[in-house]
Amino acid sequence: MNFSTKLIHGGNSEDPATGAVSIPIYRASTFHQHKLGAGPKWEYGRSGNPTRTALEKLAAAIENGSDAFAFASGSAAIHTVFSLFSSGDHIIVGNDVYGGTFRLIDKVLKRFGLKFTVVDTRNLQAVENSIQANTKAVYLESPTNPLLKITDISSIAKIAKKHGLKSIVDNTFATPYNQKPLDLGADIVVHSATKYLGGHSDLIAGLAITNDDAIGRQLAFLQNSIGSVLSPDDSWLLQRGIKTLAVRMRAHEENAHKIFDFLKSNDKVAKVYYPGDPDAEDYQIAKKQMRGFGAIISFELKAGLDTKKFVESLHLIDLAESLGGIESLIEVPAVMTHASIPRNIRIKNGITDELIRLSVGLEDIADLIEDLKGAFAKI
Ligand SMILES: *Cc1c(COP(=O)(O)O)cnc(C)c1O
Repeated sequence: MNFSTKLIHGGNSEDPATGAVSIPIYRASTFHQHKLGAGPKWEYGRSGNPTRTALEKLAAAIENGSDAFAFASGSAAIHTVFSLFSSGDHIIVGNDVYGGTFRLIDKVLKRFGLKFTVVDTRNLQAVENSIQANTKAVYLESPTNPLLKITDISSIAKIAKKHGLKSIVDNTFATPYNQKPLDLGADIVVHSATKYLGGHSDLIAGLAITNDDAIGRQLAFLQNSIGSVLSPDDSWLLQRGIKTLAVRMRAHEENAHKIFDFLKSNDKVAKVYYPGDPDAEDYQIAKKQMRGFGAIISFELKAGLDTKKFVESLHLIDLAESLGGIESLIEVPAVMTHASIPRNIRIKNGITDELIRLSVGLEDIADLIEDLKGAFAKI
């Protein structure tokens, strides 16, 4: 089955009980047990719910995994995946991960005795040099948020396998439409499904997907033990969003390419970050492992131009956190999504105070360009 078909027919695309072509929302906390101690399929809503299971089967299908788990947020999914490890274990983490992931590591997981080394995972030698006797995993995003850096996932997976480590990839920006980390050798994929998979800025959700049976069993245990599960209502909404992922991504990317060209040739723009830029240093790796380049573009205005005035002068493009929805969203990472990263670390990693991140939506391209032109004229 090809990808677009899987989006629609993957997993349980219809209700096994009634044949309904849209899976129902089973809003139940517990299920009747016909016999005592017979190990029923459904017993308690945290351990399993038919609507959530339908979504999880769909998520496994579209990432070419064997098991998927749905959580109340991307952060909950990431927390549960890190709970595979124990006090004293060491994990190598990419240096440009989502601000909330950095906060989870720095302010929460370190208190529980997990050890981390932060490196630029594009530098394979640096990753290999960071491996210690207690290293258990490499965790990365590609493309990264917000600088769209690309890590060679199959090379990292090879290094991880050689040293007996798990490789974990946050695939939120690329989505399985563009990139399948499990096919590239990774062990676990995580998603903030709040973004492209949901696609309509109307829910918060997360996913973890694996193709390794042992990891699958551990994640099932942790999902049930920690309990940060996705509700039946949001599970339904998320599978509904996933069904149109391919058409949305095609349209997002068509707009993004045009906005990239517009920004690249704009004399008020100092720098544009987009994996589809043939001049970008990671372009060849992006081309090798991604089908398309996504629709997030980051850019910096020329020195002296007013970033605040620029973003506040837009009328159509919303000044808001988040990304991947049908509407275009713009934000300033230093003040918004990445404010939890200490300034010195943030600047060192290239997230300047002037950096702007744009999530290109599905509006008519002429309207988007006109909105940007209007804001450029104000500065
Ligand atoms: C938003 C985001 C997260 C966190 O997901 P939530 O659903 O907001 O908890 C993790 N990783 C990336 C890349 C994100 O963009």
